Amino acid sequence: MRILVTGGAGYIGSHMVKLLGEGGYDVLTVDNLSEGSPQFVLYGALRVVDLLNFKALEEVLLEFKPHAVIHFAAKVKVPESVKKPLLYYENNLMGTVNLLQAMERAGVKYLIFSSTAAVYGIPQRMPVKEEDPTNPINPYGWSKLFAERAIRDYSYSTGIKYAILRYFNVAGADPEGRIGQVSKEPTHLILRAVKVATGQIPYIEVFGADYNTSDGTCIRDYVHVMDLCEAHLRALEHLIAGGESDVFNIGYGRGYTVLEVINKVKEVSKVDFEVRYASRREGDPPALVADSTKAKEILQWKPKYDDLEFIIKTALNWERKYINR
Ligand code: UDP
Repeated sequence: MRILVTGGAGYIGSHMVKLLGEGGYDVLTVDNLSEGSPQFVLYGALRVVDLLNFKALEEVLLEFKPHAVIHFAAKVKVPESVKKPLLYYENNLMGTVNLLQAMERAGVKYLIFSSTAAVYGIPQRMPVKEEDPTNPINPYGWSKLFAERAIRDYSYSTGIKYAILRYFNVAGADPEGRIGQVSKEPTHLILRAVKVATGQIPYIEVFGADYNTSDGTCIRDYVHVMDLCEAHLRALEHLIAGGESDVFNIGYGRGYTVLEVINKVKEVSKVDFEVRYASRREGDPPALVADSTKAKEILQWKPKYDDLEFIIKTALNWERKYINR
């Protein structure tokens, strides 16, 4: 079966390509290489195409004729989205619209879409369920929510099947250490913390210690990247077997504060690095924890790495390996 992966040279996409390749799927990556790197595409070919270039995108789809598309390519940094909202609407919404149009031309029937817990904004209850209100508090969340809407409406009019996966905080790396997270300007907590632990950044900042949580810092539900990719595979199988289009939260249902994460990175790395307190970061909800019962029941998603220590270990292993290249 042919699967086209957008953003397959990036962090999550490259782990997905690995999982698909190992599973015997015929995979093709489409990536503009704005964040990704060709060396992370372990299976199948890479086509360097920007989703905003409709002609080039259409050509790839018409040529490869995928059975399904898994769509990761996007801008994903909350602080950047606050500063450059149009960049986010352009890439995340218009990129998705172009992809849907190219899929229509090529007759592709299945789409797995990478969405985010940021669509919930500040949830009214925790853990969050899929039917809870969506009300993003930053342009990143809105750009993904608009893209979700476009997918649903397009599905309604054409009958294509979709699975929208709303990720909570994705972290960690391939347990075999072949690929991991690389970012030109890293903003994510675990990535930054392991970079501090490996001496690439001098100290870590805690953005806000005055939230209404156990230690005053924000709570997030960190999910290992391979478990997340596994959920995509399950979603794909679900749709192909005739399952209904649907939206699924992907997280472990357990939250950790920023300080708990930092202390775990110190413990795992055995490096007592410097921590500085800074003001709140714009666009940050105080807590985000998933209720993923639906993914477990309907997709039969069975996470294997629900362990913060393991997530940090794999992230740290990758970081040590990558800087030593
Ligand atoms: N955070 C922090 N210091 C950092 C990076 C992140 O205190 O150097 C906090 C951030 O404010 C948020 C949490 O860690 O409360 C998770 O942020 P991240 O950027 O990893 O993911 P997000 O939840 O924004 O998608």
